[in-house]
Amino acid sequence: MPNSQSVMTKKSVSKKIGVLNLQGAVSEHLTMLKRIEQVEPIAVKQAEQLADLDGLIIPGGESTAISRLIRQNGLLEPIKQFAAQGKGIFGTCAGLVLCGMETKHHEVELLKLIDIQVERNGFGRQIASFETTLDIAPIGTDIPAVFIRAPYIARAGENVTLLASVNGHGVMAQQGHILVCSFHPELTQDDRVIRYFVNLC
Ligand code: GLN
Repeated sequence: MPNSQSVMTKKSVSKKIGVLNLQGAVSEHLTMLKRIEQVEPIAVKQAEQLADLDGLIIPGGESTAISRLIRQNGLLEPIKQFAAQGKGIFGTCAGLVLCGMETKHHEVELLKLIDIQVERNGFGRQIASFETTLDIAPIGTDIPAVFIRAPYIARAGENVTLLASVNGHGVMAQQGHILVCSFHPELTQDDRVIRYFVNLC
């Protein structure tokens, strides 16, 4: 690691990455982003803050609660516009559900940013929470992945690249600058997945 990390000044900050600060694992994402040189992490609650950002993380939590708060805070259209501008969005766990195109759970209002059909709590009926390691071709091998009442990707459109699967179920996918995963990369000490997202932004 270069020494420059400890003497990072505002001048050297090149990417502003927001974490949607409505509900869920917000502080964990901010903490991991702080470790990445040349990233300024920002907790985002208001639509006006999006204009300044290069990328946005939609964290894990409860997709029903986050979707209600997105609506209440007037963020639905602004986040869609942010994505339409080609800015990076990374949905983790509940965030994956929200980025999806379809789900059987109609109480969740989806952002429809990536052409996937989502099975909410897909792993929940078998095993509620588990940890494993994944090989994710563009990122690396043996990447620790924590799943907590995790969704999976039931269908992925032809423009979507499936990056990882567990027991035959898709758990990570990318469509251009939109990245989603079923697990919680921010709950491990391994920052390769978050760095991959930052590089997309
Ligand atoms: N089961 C949750 C939901 O669908 C997601 C869980 C999580 O984000 N860890 O809202």
